[in-house]
Amino acid sequence: MSPAPTGHAAILARIARASERAGRAPASLLAVSKTQPAAAIRALAAQGQRAFGENYVQEALAKQRELADLALEWHLIGPLQSNKCREVALHFDWLQSLDRAKLVALLARQRPPARGPLNVLIQVNIDDEASKSGCAPAAVDALARRVAAEPALRLRGLMAIPQPLPDLQRRRVAFERMQALFEALRAQHAGVDTLSMGMSDDFELAIACGATLVRIGTALFGARPRANPPRAG
Ligand SMILES: *Cc1c(COP(=O)(O)O)cnc(C)c1O
Repeated sequence: MSPAPTGHAAILARIARASERAGRAPASLLAVSKTQPAAAIRALAAQGQRAFGENYVQEALAKQRELADLALEWHLIGPLQSNKCREVALHFDWLQSLDRAKLVALLARQRPPARGPLNVLIQVNIDDEASKSGCAPAAVDALARRVAAEPALRLRGLMAIPQPLPDLQRRRVAFERMQALFEALRAQHAGVDTLSMGMSDDFELAIACGATLVRIGTALFGARPRANPPRAG
């Protein structure tokens, strides 16, 4: 495969085309800025990008302090430890990686009312028995009810990181299972509108399978400054 064009405008155009082919409104773009310096985020923000995703709470907080003059939207997309719930409730707009009930009350209790509800996606371990991130598909319903019962949290949908199988058609299977889970959740909860799946090398396929938000790092920023696998805890 020849390398796809990079750059913010090129990615937005590819998202728009894929969404149009799928017959849906354009999926939104989360710029995944883990390991990227604050200056790289500032440069992308100057091109109109508002939503940024970080995997590590401490790394995100340092960048947020450097970029406090910008009105950005921050998503935590990495695994969340219970001792970090307070920082997430205080400093993030979205949590995409909720995967267990224990965190729900901690987050809700610490969310300052002035910030409005924390937007929450439930991360689903859709196809990777070995991965410890994400809840089992069968656990989504109960966890969703817990989130929906907290006024300080707003249940928005689901997130998944399917195994990066070389065969894209096999990735499609995981994406389609997520789409089915998402439609079932949406039928039960008003306000569920976000299916977060698709990364640099498969976001067009994810959009074809119903993704409403894609999380893109490498194709926007170039290769990450240091090795940092997506699943690192
Ligand atoms: C790193 C990461 C991404 C972005 O990956 P790229 O392949 O660089 O686009 C998306 N989602 C999660 C959860 C990640 O950790």
